[in-house]
Formats: sequence, structure tokens, C-alpha cells
Amino acid sequence: MALYVQKFGGTSVGSPDRIREVADHVARCRKRGDEIVLVVSAMGKETDELLRLADDVSKTKPGREMDMLVTGGERKACALVAMALTDLGIESESFTGSQAGFRTDTTHRDAKILEVNPYRIRDAVAAGKVPVVGGSQGVSTDNNVTFFGRGGSDTTAVALAHALDADACELYTDVPGVFTTDPRLVPEARKMDQISFDELLEMTATGCPKPAMRSVELARSHNVRLHVRSAFSWVPGTWVSQEASMENAIIASVTHDTSEAKMTVSGVPDKPGVAARLFRTLADAGINVDMIVQNVSADGATDISFTLPHEQVGTAEPTVAALIDEIGATGSVTDSNIGRVSLVGAGMQTNPGVAATMFETLSNAGINIEMISTSAIRISCVVREDQAEQAVTVLHAAFELHKPAEERAGF
Ligand code: ADP
Ligand code: ASP
Ligand code: MG
Repeated sequence: MALYVQKFGGTSVGSPDRIREVADHVARCRKRGDEIVLVVSAMGKETDELLRLADDVSKTKPGREMDMLVTGGERKACALVAMALTDLGIESESFTGSQAGFRTDTTHRDAKILEVNPYRIRDAVAAGKVPVVGGSQGVSTDNNVTFFGRGGSDTTAVALAHALDADACELYTDVPGVFTTDPRLVPEARKMDQISFDELLEMTATGCPKPAMRSVELARSHNVRLHVRSAFSWVPGTWVSQEASMENAIIASVTHDTSEAKMTVSGVPDKPGVAARLFRTLADAGINVDMIVQNVSADGATDISFTLPHEQVGTAEPTVAALIDEIGATGSVTDSNIGRVSLVGAGMQTNPGVAATMFETLSNAGINIEMISTSAIRISCVVREDQAEQAVTVLHAAFELHKPAEERAGF
């Protein structure tokens, strides 16, 4: 008998009909003889609605109360799914994150899992029941309800799969797997049968929302078999594993992200310790700096640009402003209208033409590159925000990602 942790996302439990379909799906898996543990997200866009409600009611939005509020979405969904299962004659019980054994730190809105002790889930499975766990939540070391942040239900599912030593963790979503780019943006995008953890991590770090990045990190470090698949059909989705892609593709995918802004500090003296001072201060303020580019200095001064999440600009601007005099810079500007496009693929390590083809493709489309950064298996370009989607489309076509890997041209 195999044990699967199956996680259903917001769209997949978004209506009474969808909830009944999830119950039908579980019934069929049970008939096949599998043991199932379910993890569910809040229904549809409920998390967004709860966050909006908090914005309308409160300016201070205390973290403890925010977590109590937001986790209510998952709590409601898991109870409804358990009811739908019971109606089909499948014994089921819903569990909050705390009841499922998730202990976290005290960082409200973005709590980290310290320990998972799912003895109640194990007992329920042993008693022939299907436990349904509310995703993205736990209880802190000081006994308050905590939320793992957006996309945290994927993390709940992976952590449970590891703790229960499940055969696989299946993430059911509204697309049939991980694609060569967002299929909503590029209809020709291809579903990948398999992808490596390394490539998927680069994708999730550069804008692919599925699966949530933290869950991929967790699955990689504990070697949890991940299967991203459609909640609407039984076709196999994308398997994520340690091995490089079997298809041997040079490029796996194109991603984009418009959630960041760019800050440029100008006239920075070109001497040791200045960058250290700037970025230490930003780090101490909790700013999540991403790409960093420093220009060649002229007359002993240089410009330093970096990207950061939009929502942290409000904290970063006064932090940088307070440093300008101390480090001897001349000023700083923020540009909120940037987008980042990235090419990800393990094969670029051994194919020197990839960067050149990427830059030529963007240039032929009249898209100016403002910043470039690379890792061993990724190249990212910052472009104007309103050109990011066009950049994805032209790059997907230029690298022939709509074709099976073995039919694509080299570069
Ligand atoms: P869930 O609510 O099931 O957790 P999300 O809504 O967070 O799922 O993410 C699924 C969405 O991610 C899809 O609807 C799809 O449009 C988008 N997406 C973006 N890039 C990709 C990609 N490369 N492969 C698959 N889906 C992607
Ligand atoms: N419902 C939460 C969100 O949308 C958590 C999750 O579903 O992963 O972010
Ligand atoms: Mg999600």
C-alpha cells in the first residue's frame, strides 16, 4: 500500500463542486488501495480577500491577529473537504496545522517550521481515515497560531510527506504540471515530464509561482519525491528529482517576475568598506536584496544598483537616505517599473552561445537590457516592466521551447 500526501491549491477547492471533485478523486485513490493524507489551501481567492479585509479595518495589522485571520481560510476549506469525503462514505477528519503537529518559530506572517510531529495524522491513517490538514499554518513556541506565508500550503505538504515518509508528495494545481513558461502567457508552452530540483529552484526564485520556493528547498534537502499535476485530470504531471532532466534540454524554461523594484545609489566612493556598509545596513533593516550591479568607477566614484521586493521600498528608501552622507554618495533613485526575465537550464553550463542568443533576441525585439546577472544554470535580465511579457514570448520562441528537447536547435 502506498502513502501519498496530496495537496490541493485554491482553485482546486474553489467551489462546492470543486470540493466534491476532490472528494471523488480521493475516493478513486482509496479504491486503488492507496493511503491518502490531504493538505488544502483556502478556497479560491479567499486569502487575498482576508488580507484586503485586514487592510480595510486596520493600519497596524498586528502579526498575531493577521495569522489568526488568514489561517481561517485553510481551516474552513479543510473542514468542508472532510465533510464531502464523509458524504462519500470515506471516513475523514480535518486538522489545523497545530493539531497536525506543526511547531514553528514566532515570526508571524512568515513562520518557519521547527518541528513536525504528526502523530494524530498517523493515527488517523492507521484507523483507515483520510486526514485533511489546513495548509500553511502551525503553532508557535509561544502557543500562538502562525501562518507560513503565501504559497505555504505546498510547504505543509512537503514537510508532512517527509515526516510521514510518504511515497510521494503530489501537488495538484490548475495547470497539468511545470511548463517551459507560464502557459497562461504563452499558450505554446510545453509541460515538462521531469525537472531537476536545481532547475526548479532557479525557476521559483525568478518568478514561477508553482510550487512555492520554500517547498522545493525542503523537498530537495529531504529528498521528497514531488509530483506537480492537474487537479482536473489524471494525466501524469511533472516529476521533480535530483537528477538533471532526462530530456537533456539546454534550456528548461523562461520565467519572469515583476514584483521587484530597482534602487540606484549614485556617486558612491570607490573604496573598501562602502558596499559592505550599505548592504549590511539594508540586511539589518530586513531588506531582501536580490540582483546587485556596480558600475566601473570614474573619477573615484561609482553607481551601485540593486533590486528588492516592491513592498520593501518603503523601508529601504529612508534606510538608504540616512546613509548617503555617511558613505559619501551623491543620491539615490528608485525605479518601480522593472521586470526581470530569466532563462533557466542546466545545459547552459556547457553551451556558451546561450547568453549571446538571449541578448540578440531581446535586442531584435527592441527590448533594452538594464541589468544582467547569472548563476551556473540561469541568466537574468532586468528590462522595462511593460516589456517583460513580450521578452518571455520572444525568448520562448527563440529557444524553441515549444518543441520537444531533442528537436530543438543548438545555440
Ligand atoms: P495553487 O493555487 O494550486 O497553489 P498557483 O496559483 O500558486 O497554484 O500557481 C499555479 C499557476 O502558476 C498556474 O495557473 C500558472 O498560470 C502559473 N505558472 C507560471 N509559470 C508557470 C510554469 N512555468 N509552469 C506552470 N505554471 C506556471
Ligand atoms: N492560501 C495561502 C496562499 O494563497 C496559502 C497557500 O495556499 O499556499 O498563499
Ligand atoms: Mg498557491
